[in-house]
Amino acid sequence: MNKAVFLDRDGVLNHDKVDYVYTIAEFKIFEGVKEALMLFKKEGFKLIVITNQSGIAKGIYEPKDVYACFNYLQAETGHLIDEMYFCPHHPKFDQVCKCRKPGNQMILDAMLKYDIDPSQSYMIGDAQRDITAGIHSGVTTIHINNGKEWVENAHFSFPNLLAAAQFMVGYTFG
Ligand SMILES: [Mg+2]
Ligand SMILES: [Zn+2]
Repeated sequence: MNKAVFLDRDGVLNHDKVDYVYTIAEFKIFEGVKEALMLFKKEGFKLIVITNQSGIAKGIYEPKDVYACFNYLQAETGHLIDEMYFCPHHPKFDQVCKCRKPGNQMILDAMLKYDIDPSQSYMIGDAQRDITAGIHSGVTTIHINNGKEWVENAHFSFPNLLAAAQFMVGYTFG
C-alpha cells in the first residue's frame, strides 16, 4: 500500500482570502511550500489536494478557474502533487453532497484510487472541517494554525506547512 499527505488548499498552500481565491493573480503561494512538498515526496508520500470550492455552486467561478490555479501551483512548486480533488457543491446553492469537507468522500475516493494506507497517512488543514474529514478517514491530522480557526482535536499543530513537514519527516523516520 501507499501513504499519502492530503492537503487542504487555501490557508495551507496559498494565502486565503475572506472571499474566494480563483484567479492566478490572487493565488499567492506561501513561502516554504515547495520545500515541504519536496520533503514529502522524498519520503515517498503521494500528495493529494482536497479542497472545497463552493464558489462554483454559487456561480462565482468555474471548474476551469480551479484547474488554472492548480496548474499554476504545480508549475511554481515542481509538479509534485499527484492529484487535486475539489467539491464544487454547496448545500444551500445546489446539493447536499458527501464530498464537501467535513465530509470525507474525496479522501475515500483518493485512498481507493491510490491504494492508500490511512495509518501511514496525514490530512493537513487550517479549519475544523479538514481535521474532521481526516479523523473520519483514519489518518493522522495536522492543523496549520494560521490564526483562521481554533481546532481542538487535531493530532498536531504547526504554524505552516514546512514546519509540519520537517516535524513529520523526523517523527516518522527519525
Ligand atoms: Mg483552508
Ligand atoms: Zn461535494
